[in-house]
Amino acid sequence: MFRGLLIMAMALLLTSGWGTDTYSGSGSARPLPLQATNADASSSQHNPLAAPVQADPVTPAVPAVLEATPIKNSTLNAVPIQHLALPATVAETAVVQQVAATAAKAAKTVYLTFDDGPSKITREVLDILRKQGVKATFFVLGNAAKSHPELINAIWEQGHAIGNHSYDHDYHNLYSGFTAFWNQIKQTENVIREITGERPRLVRAPGGTSGHFDDTYFQLLNQAGYLVMDWTVDSGDSRRKGVPAAEILRESTKDLTSSEVVLLLHDGGGHGESAKALPQIIARYKAAGYTFKVLDDSVKPVQFRVSAKAAGLDRLKPSNAWIASNILPNVALFQPGRTLALEVGLLEAKLNPGEYSIINGQYMVPLRAVVERLGGQVRWDQTSRSGQVIWNGRTVTADVSGGELAVSLPGGAQEKRAARVEIIGGAIWVPLRELLETAGHPLKAISATSEERRVKAA
Ligand SMILES: [Zn+2]
Repeated sequence: MFRGLLIMAMALLLTSGWGTDTYSGSGSARPLPLQATNADASSSQHNPLAAPVQADPVTPAVPAVLEATPIKNSTLNAVPIQHLALPATVAETAVVQQVAATAAKAAKTVYLTFDDGPSKITREVLDILRKQGVKATFFVLGNAAKSHPELINAIWEQGHAIGNHSYDHDYHNLYSGFTAFWNQIKQTENVIREITGERPRLVRAPGGTSGHFDDTYFQLLNQAGYLVMDWTVDSGDSRRKGVPAAEILRESTKDLTSSEVVLLLHDGGGHGESAKALPQIIARYKAAGYTFKVLDDSVKPVQFRVSAKAAGLDRLKPSNAWIASNILPNVALFQPGRTLALEVGLLEAKLNPGEYSIINGQYMVPLRAVVERLGGQVRWDQTSRSGQVIWNGRTVTADVSGGELAVSLPGGAQEKRAARVEIIGGAIWVPLRELLETAGHPLKAISATSEERRVKAA
Protein backbone atom coordinates (compact mmCIF):
# COMPACT_ATOMS: atom_id res chain seq x y z
CA MET A 1 0.00 0.00 0.00
CA PHE A 2 2.67 2.46 1.11
CA ARG A 3 4.93 1.44 -1.71
CA GLY A 4 2.02 1.94 -4.12
CA LEU A 5 1.57 5.46 -2.86
CA LEU A 6 5.25 6.18 -3.27
CA ILE A 7 5.21 4.96 -6.84
CA MET A 8 2.14 7.07 -7.54
CA ALA A 9 3.85 10.07 -5.98
CA MET A 10 6.91 9.57 -8.12
CA ALA A 11 4.84 9.10 -11.23
CA LEU A 12 3.03 12.28 -10.40
CA LEU A 13 6.29 14.16 -9.98
CA LEU A 14 7.53 12.85 -13.29
CA THR A 15 4.40 13.72 -15.19
CA SER A 16 3.38 16.93 -13.53
CA GLY A 17 5.81 19.05 -15.50
CA TRP A 18 7.53 21.01 -12.76
CA GLY A 19 8.59 24.42 -13.83
CA THR A 20 6.37 24.50 -16.87
CA ASP A 21 3.34 25.83 -15.07
CA THR A 22 2.20 29.38 -15.02
CA TYR A 23 3.38 29.69 -11.46
CA SER A 24 5.64 27.41 -9.53
CA GLY A 25 4.98 27.16 -5.84
CA SER A 26 8.02 26.58 -3.68
CA GLY A 27 10.85 29.07 -3.66
CA SER A 28 8.89 31.59 -5.65
CA ALA A 29 8.63 35.04 -4.17
CA ARG A 30 5.56 35.61 -6.22
CA PRO A 31 2.30 35.29 -4.27
CA LEU A 32 -0.24 32.80 -5.48
CA PRO A 33 -3.35 34.82 -5.99
CA LEU A 34 -5.39 31.83 -7.20
CA GLN A 35 -6.55 33.87 -10.06
CA ALA A 36 -7.85 32.63 -13.29
CA THR A 37 -5.12 32.98 -15.85
CA ASN A 38 -7.29 33.94 -18.77
CA ALA A 39 -8.99 37.05 -19.87
CA ASP A 40 -12.48 35.73 -19.32
CA ALA A 41 -11.83 35.57 -15.60
CA SER A 42 -14.28 38.27 -14.74
CA SER A 43 -16.82 37.22 -17.32
CA SER A 44 -20.26 37.14 -15.82
CA GLN A 45 -20.77 33.82 -17.59
CA HIS A 46 -18.96 32.17 -14.73
CA ASN A 47 -20.65 34.10 -12.00
CA PRO A 48 -23.59 32.12 -10.70
CA LEU A 49 -24.92 35.15 -8.89
CA ALA A 50 -25.15 37.07 -12.08
CA ALA A 51 -26.06 34.15 -14.29
CA PRO A 52 -27.13 35.76 -17.54
CA VAL A 53 -30.27 33.79 -18.05
CA GLN A 54 -32.28 36.68 -19.39
CA ALA A 55 -29.55 37.99 -21.66
CA ASP A 56 -28.15 34.71 -22.81
CA PRO A 57 -30.76 32.03 -22.42
CA VAL A 58 -30.38 28.38 -23.17
CA THR A 59 -32.56 28.05 -26.21
CA PRO A 60 -33.72 24.51 -26.79
CA ALA A 61 -35.85 23.86 -29.82
CA VAL A 62 -39.36 25.19 -29.48
CA PRO A 63 -41.37 22.48 -27.78
CA ALA A 64 -43.99 20.68 -29.79
CA VAL A 65 -47.03 21.19 -27.63
CA LEU A 66 -49.36 18.28 -27.86
CA GLU A 67 -52.75 17.33 -26.64
CA ALA A 68 -52.80 14.24 -24.46
CA THR A 69 -53.53 12.47 -27.75
CA PRO A 70 -50.59 13.68 -29.79
CA ILE A 71 -50.77 15.20 -33.21
CA LYS A 72 -48.81 13.68 -36.08
CA ASN A 73 -45.75 15.52 -37.23
CA SER A 74 -46.12 16.24 -40.92
CA THR A 75 -43.40 18.81 -41.55
CA LEU A 76 -41.40 16.45 -43.77
CA ASN A 77 -43.99 16.52 -46.54
CA ALA A 78 -43.07 20.11 -47.25
CA VAL A 79 -39.50 19.36 -48.29
CA PRO A 80 -39.79 17.61 -51.68
CA ILE A 81 -42.77 19.72 -52.82
CA GLN A 82 -40.48 22.76 -52.99
CA HIS A 83 -38.88 21.32 -56.13
CA LEU A 84 -42.15 21.75 -57.99
CA ALA A 85 -41.33 25.16 -59.39
CA LEU A 86 -43.02 24.53 -62.79
CA PRO A 87 -46.34 22.91 -63.56
CA ALA A 88 -45.72 19.20 -63.61
CA THR A 89 -47.04 16.59 -65.97
CA VAL A 90 -48.86 13.62 -64.52
CA ALA A 91 -45.76 11.48 -64.93
CA GLU A 92 -43.56 14.06 -63.27
CA THR A 93 -46.02 14.39 -60.41
CA ALA A 94 -45.90 10.66 -59.90
CA VAL A 95 -42.10 10.77 -59.76
CA VAL A 96 -42.16 13.65 -57.29
CA GLN A 97 -44.63 11.79 -55.11
CA GLN A 98 -42.45 8.75 -55.21
CA VAL A 99 -39.41 10.82 -54.20
CA ALA A 100 -41.46 12.39 -51.43
CA ALA A 101 -42.52 8.99 -50.17
CA THR A 102 -38.92 7.74 -50.20
CA ALA A 103 -37.68 10.86 -48.41
CA ALA A 104 -40.38 10.56 -45.78
CA LYS A 105 -39.62 6.89 -45.34
CA ALA A 106 -35.92 7.59 -44.96
CA ALA A 107 -36.60 10.24 -42.34
CA LYS A 108 -38.84 8.17 -40.07
CA THR A 109 -37.41 8.05 -36.58
CA VAL A 110 -38.47 6.15 -33.49
CA TYR A 111 -37.22 6.92 -30.00
CA LEU A 112 -37.72 3.95 -27.69
CA THR A 113 -37.96 5.18 -24.11
CA PHE A 114 -37.98 3.08 -20.93
CA ASP A 115 -39.22 4.54 -17.66
CA ASP A 116 -38.99 3.52 -13.99
CA GLY A 117 -35.78 1.47 -14.10
CA PRO A 118 -33.21 0.31 -13.59
CA SER A 119 -34.43 -3.06 -12.39
CA LYS A 120 -33.79 -6.74 -13.19
CA ILE A 121 -35.74 -6.21 -16.42
CA THR A 122 -33.16 -3.66 -17.57
CA ARG A 123 -30.60 -6.41 -18.26
CA GLU A 124 -33.06 -8.24 -20.48
CA VAL A 125 -33.92 -5.03 -22.31
CA LEU A 126 -30.23 -4.20 -22.80
CA ASP A 127 -29.53 -7.66 -24.23
CA ILE A 128 -32.35 -7.32 -26.73
CA LEU A 129 -31.25 -3.84 -27.76
CA ARG A 130 -27.68 -5.03 -28.24
CA LYS A 131 -28.71 -7.99 -30.36
CA GLN A 132 -30.93 -5.77 -32.50
CA GLY A 133 -28.30 -3.03 -32.80
CA VAL A 134 -30.71 -0.44 -31.50
CA LYS A 135 -30.26 2.50 -29.11
CA ALA A 136 -32.84 3.74 -26.62
CA THR A 137 -33.37 6.30 -23.87
CA PHE A 138 -33.79 5.28 -20.22
CA PHE A 139 -35.61 7.63 -17.85
CA VAL A 140 -34.32 6.30 -14.57
CA LEU A 141 -35.33 6.73 -10.95
CA GLY A 142 -32.71 8.12 -8.55
CA ASN A 143 -33.34 5.57 -5.82
CA ALA A 144 -33.13 2.64 -8.26
CA ALA A 145 -29.96 4.10 -9.80
CA LYS A 146 -28.44 4.45 -6.36
CA SER A 147 -29.09 0.79 -5.51
CA HIS A 148 -28.05 -0.44 -9.00
CA PRO A 149 -25.18 1.72 -10.23
CA GLU A 150 -23.94 -1.28 -12.24
CA LEU A 151 -27.09 -1.15 -14.37
CA ILE A 152 -26.69 2.58 -14.97
CA ASN A 153 -23.13 1.83 -16.06
CA ALA A 154 -24.34 -0.93 -18.38
CA ILE A 155 -26.89 1.43 -19.99
CA TRP A 156 -24.25 4.13 -20.38
CA GLU A 157 -21.55 1.85 -21.75
CA GLN A 158 -23.87 0.50 -24.44
CA GLY A 159 -24.36 4.04 -25.70
CA HIS A 160 -27.96 4.58 -24.68
CA ALA A 161 -29.17 7.92 -23.35
CA ILE A 162 -30.10 8.47 -19.72
CA GLY A 163 -32.85 10.81 -18.59
CA ASN A 164 -34.14 11.85 -15.17
CA HIS A 165 -37.46 10.41 -13.96
CA SER A 166 -37.35 11.81 -10.36
CA TYR A 167 -35.98 10.12 -7.27
CA ASP A 168 -38.90 8.08 -5.95
CA HIS A 169 -41.83 8.58 -8.37
CA ASP A 170 -44.09 9.68 -5.51
CA TYR A 171 -46.82 11.78 -7.19
CA HIS A 172 -48.02 13.17 -3.89
CA ASN A 173 -44.64 14.72 -3.15
CA LEU A 174 -43.62 15.57 -6.72
CA TYR A 175 -46.79 17.43 -7.56
CA SER A 176 -47.25 19.17 -4.21
CA GLY A 177 -45.24 22.11 -5.55
CA PHE A 178 -42.35 22.89 -7.85
CA THR A 179 -39.57 22.90 -5.26
CA ALA A 180 -40.41 19.33 -4.23
CA PHE A 181 -40.16 18.24 -7.88
CA TRP A 182 -36.93 20.19 -8.28
CA ASN A 183 -35.31 18.59 -5.23
CA GLN A 184 -35.96 15.12 -6.65
CA ILE A 185 -34.56 16.09 -10.05
CA LYS A 186 -31.36 17.43 -8.48
CA GLN A 187 -31.03 14.46 -6.12
CA THR A 188 -31.35 12.01 -9.02
CA GLU A 189 -29.04 14.08 -11.19
CA ASN A 190 -26.32 13.89 -8.54
CA VAL A 191 -26.67 10.11 -8.28
CA ILE A 192 -26.32 9.75 -12.05
CA ARG A 193 -23.44 12.22 -12.25
CA GLU A 194 -21.55 10.20 -9.67
CA ILE A 195 -21.92 7.07 -11.81
CA THR A 196 -21.52 8.33 -15.38
CA GLY A 197 -19.83 11.70 -14.84
CA GLU A 198 -22.63 13.42 -16.74
CA ARG A 199 -25.78 15.23 -15.70
CA PRO A 200 -28.87 14.28 -17.65
CA ARG A 201 -30.71 17.21 -19.23
CA LEU A 202 -33.67 15.10 -20.28
CA VAL A 203 -36.49 14.96 -17.77
CA ARG A 204 -39.64 12.88 -17.94
CA ALA A 205 -42.37 13.64 -15.42
CA PRO A 206 -43.64 10.57 -13.56
CA GLY A 207 -47.08 9.89 -15.03
CA GLY A 208 -46.33 12.42 -17.79
CA THR A 209 -46.82 16.17 -17.53
CA SER A 210 -50.53 16.01 -18.32
CA GLY A 211 -52.57 16.78 -15.20
CA HIS A 212 -49.33 17.35 -13.26
CA PHE A 213 -47.32 20.21 -14.74
CA ASP A 214 -48.49 23.80 -14.76
CA ASP A 215 -46.70 26.70 -16.44
CA THR A 216 -44.36 27.10 -13.46
CA TYR A 217 -43.07 23.54 -13.79
CA PHE A 218 -42.51 23.90 -17.53
CA GLN A 219 -40.99 27.37 -17.40
CA LEU A 220 -38.59 26.84 -14.51
CA LEU A 221 -37.29 23.51 -15.79
CA ASN A 222 -36.79 25.02 -19.22
CA GLN A 223 -35.09 28.07 -17.72
CA ALA A 224 -32.79 25.82 -15.69
CA GLY A 225 -31.63 24.06 -18.84
CA TYR A 226 -33.70 20.84 -18.79
CA LEU A 227 -35.59 19.25 -21.66
CA VAL A 228 -38.96 17.93 -20.59
CA MET A 229 -40.07 15.04 -22.74
CA ASP A 230 -43.47 13.33 -22.85
CA TRP A 231 -44.29 10.78 -25.56
CA THR A 232 -46.32 10.39 -28.74
CA VAL A 233 -47.21 6.69 -28.42
CA ASP A 234 -48.03 4.89 -25.17
CA SER A 235 -47.34 1.17 -25.24
CA GLY A 236 -49.97 0.80 -22.54
CA ASP A 237 -47.65 -1.45 -20.56
CA SER A 238 -48.44 0.31 -17.28
CA ARG A 239 -52.15 0.79 -17.84
CA ARG A 240 -52.80 -1.98 -15.32
CA LYS A 241 -50.86 -4.81 -13.75
CA GLY A 242 -49.62 -7.60 -16.03
CA VAL A 243 -50.57 -6.22 -19.45
CA PRO A 244 -49.73 -9.13 -21.80
CA ALA A 245 -46.94 -8.82 -24.39
CA ALA A 246 -49.37 -9.19 -27.30
CA GLU A 247 -51.33 -6.15 -26.16
CA ILE A 248 -48.14 -4.12 -25.60
CA LEU A 249 -46.98 -5.01 -29.11
CA ARG A 250 -50.34 -4.04 -30.65
CA GLU A 251 -50.50 -0.69 -28.82
CA SER A 252 -46.84 0.13 -29.51
CA THR A 253 -47.17 -0.39 -33.24
CA LYS A 254 -50.63 1.09 -33.86
CA ASP A 255 -49.25 3.91 -35.97
CA LEU A 256 -46.30 3.16 -38.22
CA THR A 257 -46.72 6.17 -40.49
CA SER A 258 -45.68 9.12 -38.28
CA SER A 259 -42.30 10.57 -39.14
CA GLU A 260 -41.37 10.75 -35.49
CA VAL A 261 -42.44 8.42 -32.70
CA VAL A 262 -41.49 8.72 -29.04
CA LEU A 263 -42.63 5.39 -27.62
CA LEU A 264 -43.31 5.01 -23.90
CA LEU A 265 -42.27 1.66 -22.41
CA HIS A 266 -41.24 0.60 -18.91
CA ASP A 267 -38.32 -1.40 -17.55
CA GLY A 268 -39.18 -1.14 -13.86
CA GLY A 269 -39.82 -4.20 -11.72
CA GLY A 270 -42.76 -6.30 -12.93
CA HIS A 271 -42.45 -5.23 -16.58
CA GLY A 272 -41.23 -8.54 -17.95
CA GLU A 273 -43.99 -8.50 -20.57
CA SER A 274 -42.56 -5.29 -22.05
CA ALA A 275 -39.20 -6.99 -22.53
CA LYS A 276 -41.03 -9.96 -24.06
CA ALA A 277 -42.78 -7.70 -26.57
CA LEU A 278 -39.66 -5.71 -27.40
CA PRO A 279 -38.07 -7.85 -30.16
CA GLN A 280 -41.25 -7.75 -32.19
CA ILE A 281 -41.83 -4.05 -31.53
CA ILE A 282 -38.36 -3.39 -32.93
CA ALA A 283 -38.94 -5.71 -35.88
CA ARG A 284 -42.16 -3.93 -36.89
CA TYR A 285 -40.60 -0.46 -36.69
CA LYS A 286 -37.64 -1.69 -38.72
CA ALA A 287 -39.94 -3.17 -41.34
CA ALA A 288 -41.81 0.14 -41.54
CA GLY A 289 -38.54 1.94 -42.35
CA TYR A 290 -37.81 3.61 -39.03
CA THR A 291 -34.37 4.55 -37.75
CA PHE A 292 -33.80 4.19 -34.00
CA LYS A 293 -32.24 7.13 -32.21
CA VAL A 294 -31.66 8.37 -28.68
CA LEU A 295 -33.23 11.56 -27.40
CA ASP A 296 -30.95 14.56 -27.00
CA ASP A 297 -31.10 18.34 -27.12
CA SER A 298 -31.44 18.37 -30.90
CA VAL A 299 -34.85 16.70 -30.70
CA LYS A 300 -37.89 18.93 -30.50
CA PRO A 301 -39.35 18.24 -27.04
CA VAL A 302 -42.72 16.50 -27.07
CA GLN A 303 -44.84 18.06 -24.33
CA PHE A 304 -48.48 17.76 -23.41
CA ARG A 305 -50.54 20.89 -22.90
CA VAL A 306 -51.13 22.20 -19.39
CA SER A 307 -54.50 20.82 -18.36
CA ALA A 308 -57.16 22.87 -16.61
CA LYS A 309 -56.78 20.52 -13.67
CA ALA A 310 -53.05 21.19 -13.28
CA ALA A 311 -53.44 24.93 -13.89
CA GLY A 312 -56.12 25.08 -11.23
CA LEU A 313 -54.07 23.40 -8.51
CA ASP A 314 -53.35 25.82 -5.72
CA ARG A 315 -49.61 25.21 -5.41
CA LEU A 316 -47.01 27.43 -3.86
CA LYS A 317 -44.82 29.20 -6.43
CA PRO A 318 -41.12 29.54 -5.65
CA SER A 319 -39.99 33.02 -4.62
CA ASN A 320 -37.80 35.16 -6.85
CA ALA A 321 -34.97 34.71 -4.35
CA TRP A 322 -35.30 30.92 -4.59
CA ILE A 323 -35.32 31.11 -8.38
CA ALA A 324 -32.23 33.34 -8.37
CA SER A 325 -30.40 30.93 -6.12
CA ASN A 326 -31.48 27.64 -7.70
CA ILE A 327 -32.72 28.01 -11.27
CA LEU A 328 -30.46 30.70 -12.68
CA PRO A 329 -27.06 29.22 -11.70
CA ASN A 330 -28.19 25.81 -12.96
CA VAL A 331 -27.96 26.90 -16.59
CA ALA A 332 -24.18 27.03 -16.39
CA LEU A 333 -24.09 23.28 -15.68
CA PHE A 334 -25.07 22.61 -19.28
CA GLN A 335 -23.02 25.26 -21.01
CA PRO A 336 -19.80 24.32 -22.71
CA GLY A 337 -16.64 25.41 -21.01
CA ARG A 338 -13.50 24.22 -19.37
CA THR A 339 -13.28 21.76 -16.52
CA LEU A 340 -11.39 22.75 -13.41
CA ALA A 341 -9.01 19.98 -12.34
CA LEU A 342 -7.98 20.00 -8.70
CA GLU A 343 -4.86 18.06 -7.91
CA VAL A 344 -4.55 17.85 -4.16
CA GLY A 345 -1.82 15.60 -2.82
CA LEU A 346 -2.24 12.32 -4.67
CA LEU A 347 -5.92 12.81 -5.43
CA GLU A 348 -7.54 14.56 -8.33
CA ALA A 349 -11.08 15.82 -8.74
CA LYS A 350 -12.68 17.52 -11.72
CA LEU A 351 -15.34 20.18 -11.64
CA ASN A 352 -17.32 20.62 -14.83
CA PRO A 353 -18.35 24.00 -16.21
CA GLY A 354 -21.06 25.33 -13.91
CA GLU A 355 -19.69 23.38 -10.97
CA TYR A 356 -17.29 26.22 -10.25
CA SER A 357 -17.32 29.92 -10.92
CA ILE A 358 -14.85 32.74 -11.09
CA ILE A 359 -15.75 35.83 -9.13
CA ASN A 360 -13.37 38.79 -9.05
CA GLY A 361 -10.64 36.53 -10.33
CA GLN A 362 -11.11 33.97 -7.59
CA TYR A 363 -12.30 30.41 -8.02
CA MET A 364 -15.50 29.75 -6.08
CA VAL A 365 -16.40 26.09 -5.56
CA PRO A 366 -19.16 24.05 -3.94
CA LEU A 367 -17.76 22.93 -0.59
CA ARG A 368 -19.27 19.46 -0.42
CA ALA A 369 -18.50 18.47 -4.00
CA VAL A 370 -14.84 19.45 -3.66
CA VAL A 371 -14.18 18.04 -0.21
CA GLU A 372 -15.99 14.75 -0.78
CA ARG A 373 -14.38 14.16 -4.17
CA LEU A 374 -11.03 14.69 -2.46
CA GLY A 375 -11.57 12.30 0.40
CA GLY A 376 -13.04 14.49 3.17
CA GLN A 377 -16.46 14.80 4.75
CA VAL A 378 -18.92 17.67 5.08
CA ARG A 379 -21.86 18.00 7.45
CA TRP A 380 -24.36 20.86 7.47
CA ASP A 381 -25.09 22.30 10.89
CA GLN A 382 -28.48 24.00 10.79
CA THR A 383 -28.17 25.76 14.17
CA SER A 384 -24.96 27.60 13.34
CA ARG A 385 -25.73 27.74 9.59
CA SER A 386 -22.33 26.37 8.80
CA GLY A 387 -20.63 23.49 7.03
CA GLN A 388 -18.43 21.30 9.20
CA VAL A 389 -15.55 19.89 7.17
CA ILE A 390 -13.39 17.01 8.28
CA TRP A 391 -10.50 16.78 5.88
CA ASN A 392 -6.78 16.14 6.01
CA GLY A 393 -6.94 15.60 9.79
CA ARG A 394 -8.39 19.06 10.36
CA THR A 395 -11.82 20.41 11.18
CA VAL A 396 -12.80 23.45 9.14
CA THR A 397 -16.02 25.37 9.71
CA ALA A 398 -17.47 27.30 6.79
CA ASP A 399 -19.68 29.89 8.44
CA VAL A 400 -22.33 31.33 6.13
CA SER A 401 -23.70 34.05 8.42
CA GLY A 402 -20.27 35.11 9.72
CA GLY A 403 -18.61 34.96 6.30
CA GLU A 404 -15.52 33.17 7.50
CA LEU A 405 -13.59 29.92 7.48
CA ALA A 406 -12.37 28.71 10.86
CA VAL A 407 -9.93 25.87 11.38
CA SER A 408 -9.24 23.93 14.55
CA LEU A 409 -5.58 23.00 14.56
CA PRO A 410 -4.16 19.98 16.34
CA GLY A 411 -3.48 21.14 19.91
CA GLY A 412 -6.70 23.10 20.15
CA ALA A 413 -5.72 26.41 18.61
CA GLN A 414 -8.25 28.04 16.29
CA GLU A 415 -7.61 30.25 13.30
CA LYS A 416 -10.22 32.29 11.49
CA ARG A 417 -10.16 34.11 8.19
CA ALA A 418 -12.78 36.17 6.45
CA ALA A 419 -14.07 34.48 3.31
CA ARG A 420 -16.98 34.76 0.93
CA VAL A 421 -19.09 31.81 2.14
CA GLU A 422 -22.42 31.65 0.33
CA ILE A 423 -25.40 29.43 -0.24
CA ILE A 424 -25.98 28.92 -3.95
CA GLY A 425 -28.52 26.41 -5.21
CA GLY A 426 -28.87 24.92 -1.74
CA ALA A 427 -25.13 24.26 -1.47
CA ILE A 428 -22.34 26.09 0.37
CA TRP A 429 -19.84 27.74 -1.95
CA VAL A 430 -16.44 28.91 -0.75
CA PRO A 431 -13.34 30.47 -2.29
CA LEU A 432 -11.06 27.61 -3.38
CA ARG A 433 -7.81 29.18 -2.26
CA GLU A 434 -9.03 29.88 1.28
CA LEU A 435 -10.52 26.40 1.54
CA LEU A 436 -7.31 24.66 0.49
CA GLU A 437 -5.16 26.78 2.76
CA THR A 438 -7.30 26.39 5.86
CA ALA A 439 -7.45 22.65 5.23
CA GLY A 440 -3.64 22.49 5.17
CA HIS A 441 -3.24 22.05 1.41
CA PRO A 442 -1.05 25.00 0.37
CA LEU A 443 -1.11 25.91 -3.29
CA LYS A 444 1.66 24.82 -5.62
CA ALA A 445 0.61 25.86 -9.08
CA ILE A 446 -2.18 27.19 -11.23
CA SER A 447 -2.44 26.82 -14.97
CA ALA A 448 -4.94 26.93 -17.79
CA THR A 449 -5.11 25.54 -21.31
CA SER A 450 -7.88 25.80 -23.86
CA GLU A 451 -9.31 22.51 -22.53
CA GLU A 452 -9.00 22.86 -18.81
CA ARG A 453 -7.97 24.88 -15.82
CA ARG A 454 -5.81 23.21 -13.23
CA VAL A 455 -4.95 23.95 -9.63
CA LYS A 456 -2.30 21.96 -7.77
CA ALA A 457 -2.00 21.92 -4.02
CA ALA A 458 0.24 20.00 -1.64
ZN1 LIG B 1 -42.77 6.40 -14.38
